[in-house]
Amino acid sequence: MENRETSPTHHAPGSTVWAGLMGRCPSCHRGKLFAGYLTLAPRCNVCGLDYDFAESGDGPAVFVILVTGFIVVGAALIVEVLYRPPYWLHALLWGSLALVLPLLLLRAFKGVLIALQFKHKAEEGKLASD
Ligand SMILES: [Zn+2]
Repeated sequence: MENRETSPTHHAPGSTVWAGLMGRCPSCHRGKLFAGYLTLAPRCNVCGLDYDFAESGDGPAVFVILVTGFIVVGAALIVEVLYRPPYWLHALLWGSLALVLPLLLLRAFKGVLIALQFKHKAEEGKLASD
């Protein structure tokens, strides 16, 4: 009988995205995925999963740029229409938000993309003759 607490292959439904958001191992959802802010650990400290498969590339940065742009531009337009603040206040508000928001989102997005890459066994395409 499989032990649900220690099995590296057991997943609660919908928990893959949550494990990625929390920076947890995509297999056991308990070990640490990151060794630094964006640096991956070599392997899971709980189940031993090797993180060599994980290659998120520019994916997290692209999503972070899109989400940050949507939020910052949308908020700037709403504030301009409602309150018409001076331009220096726009620059202060949205410049700061455009710097802080990506720093907050990048790690979570990278964790989610790696978790989804693991779940769906996504990997680089190969030719059949190789
Ligand atoms: Zn693990």
